[in-house]
Amino acid sequence: MTAADTGRCLCGHYRYRVEAPPLWVAYCHCESCRRATGSPAPCYTGFPEHAVHFDPAPPPTFASSPPVRRSFCEHCGTPLSYAAEFFPGELHLFRSNFERPGAYEPTRHVLFNEHEADFDIHDDLPRYGTEPGRIIAWGPRPALRVLFLCRQNSARSILAEAILNLRKARLGDRRVRAHSAGSEPAGEIDPGALALLSPHRYRLDRARSRSWDFFTTDEAPTIDWVITLCDEVAAEPCPAFPGDAGRRHWGLPDPATGAATFEDTWAAIEQRVDGFLEELGAR
Ligand SMILES: [Zn+2]
Ligand SMILES: [Zn+2]
Repeated sequence: MTAADTGRCLCGHYRYRVEAPPLWVAYCHCESCRRATGSPAPCYTGFPEHAVHFDPAPPPTFASSPPVRRSFCEHCGTPLSYAAEFFPGELHLFRSNFERPGAYEPTRHVLFNEHEADFDIHDDLPRYGTEPGRIIAWGPRPALRVLFLCRQNSARSILAEAILNLRKARLGDRRVRAHSAGSEPAGEIDPGALALLSPHRYRLDRARSRSWDFFTTDEAPTIDWVITLCDEVAAEPCPAFPGDAGRRHWGLPDPATGAATFEDTWAAIEQRVDGFLEELGAR
């Protein structure tokens, strides 16, 4: 996710720009959100109010269920925002209205006690009821998460993330899921890496170059393994990630500098990933 991102309503009359990272990203299952949006679980992104700029002007708001105020585009009906006294200083936007919704990864379900009983959810995110700190129900167990790190998070760690996710491995009843980040993220994925990912129909909206700081926040999923892929990052003091992650270092030459081909890098990572999964006993 970049510092400034944009979204719009269906007809394009309203556009907005956000100039801060989201405070949180969550699915809400409450009845009023379901009715107001026509969706079984609208996904919200919470922002500091001052970081959201509407063009040409903020849409009109309605006291939909006081003290909640919601806004809609009066031309196409798209729900645009949510604000309430009990979220002071926050404006909530919809993930689906962003140009790149995949940049906003949901981390939880809220008001799950009101969910539509036959709406089947297969993710492994925690589900909260009216008491925010208390998980009321789990779906599948949380995934076993592996974080790949290299300096720029634009080639090696992106490929490793994709290769591990493409394996769709499981350890018992847990999915094995990969993430990636960098100490000095380039903000873009190297075209050589993109070219290798495309034929695999890998979800490219998931692949992004971002800072490892994200994984130190409360919003980030707990990481079980941290694997460094370049010697620079392995030598740097790593931030403390929540949880008690195991460490591995796979030093690989950087294809972005021409020190190796992208194809060779892909093959080398595949070999390491398969060895790692075997070591874990994953299948
Ligand atoms: Zn509109
Ligand atoms: Zn709601």
